[in-house]
Amino acid sequence: MDAATAPPPAAVEIVALTKRYAAGAPPAVDQIDLRIASGSYCCLLGPSGCGKSTTLRMVAGHESVSSGDILLDNRNITNLPAAARGTAMMFQSFALFPHLSALDNVAFSLKMKGIARAERHRRAKHLLERVAMGHLSERKPAELSGGQQQRVALARALITEPRVLLLDEPLSALDPFLRIQMRAELRRWQKELGLTFIHVTHSQEEAMALADTMVVMNHGLIEQVGSPHRVYNHPASEFVARFMGGHNVFATGDGLVAVRNDHTRIVPADGEAGLPAQVTDIEYQGTYVLIGLRLAEVRPERSGVSVLLSERAFVTRPCAVGEHVRLAWSDADARALGPGATRRGEPPPDAPASRPAPLAALAAMAA
Ligand code: ADP
Ligand code: MG
Repeated sequence: MDAATAPPPAAVEIVALTKRYAAGAPPAVDQIDLRIASGSYCCLLGPSGCGKSTTLRMVAGHESVSSGDILLDNRNITNLPAAARGTAMMFQSFALFPHLSALDNVAFSLKMKGIARAERHRRAKHLLERVAMGHLSERKPAELSGGQQQRVALARALITEPRVLLLDEPLSALDPFLRIQMRAELRRWQKELGLTFIHVTHSQEEAMALADTMVVMNHGLIEQVGSPHRVYNHPASEFVARFMGGHNVFATGDGLVAVRNDHTRIVPADGEAGLPAQVTDIEYQGTYVLIGLRLAEVRPERSGVSVLLSERAFVTRPCAVGEHVRLAWSDADARALGPGATRRGEPPPDAPASRPAPLAALAAMAA
């Protein structure tokens, strides 16, 4: 590989990383490989229990590794203590000490290191000023807004001068309005500081808003890695398409395909094209109208689909609950889905499961 095409140096590299909490149980994290580019915002995304926090804690050094390696700029940190890694962690709802001022919260880890009071206060003050909180440094957390607390938590994490900031669901305890404000601020700080952020979330909306790179996990495995645009527009598997939302999964003669629900069209029931379906509900969302439908000739677990119409399109051609229609899409909007991640050493799902039967056969199965 020549220099022009060589990948940029990875700030964080994870190699065959595995965590097994109990012998016999399936691993919580199963031989995952991942490169996170220096200075990028990476989101680990997936449903509860898929292994996101375990992965993050292993990178932080708060959880032992069963096997595999973690490298930070080519330095193997797998067995280093947390404080020697060059990483810092920001926890859910910020976990500030309620009895300490903002200044003492930020200075806390320097106190643990035995740094003299004047010096640790000088450095804490400098960081609070950096996050525009210098004027509130004597306040206790309860006297600060959620946004101000987030900045204190950020300053507290930064005082150890980390190369990589690790964030575990940092916004999940906030109300929805504040959450959206705070994520914009996190994104801004990440760009301004130029650090690598690894942010764990179960919210695809949050990951899409924040990430340069999204890592979609399921059952301790990585299903897909890519930019939000790439993952949303080219989901690799049925799991990713369903987890990201906004997609319909259709079984065709060539296998499963995902079609975005704003690219799925409602066409008249008396035509030849498309799959027969019945409208089950209509949800007005302001700019859009979300039409819920049930496919007629499909197994129940795959029969629920939706179409997102602009308000104008709905008004031009309204439909009603109970109406029989057909659903169609352009080939260019259909994304072929792969079988998804499999555990190493296990064969991929066998042919009948991974290559879905044509519609007629599915209808026979459902009958
Ligand atoms: P996530 O953060 O994606 O919700 P976790 O990494 O917390 O998932 O958990 C992954 C799996 O490991 C889950 O099945 C969870 O029950 C299990 N697990 C997490 N922490 C422990 C622990 N300390 N001891 C035993 N099992 C654990
Ligand atoms: Mg978690």
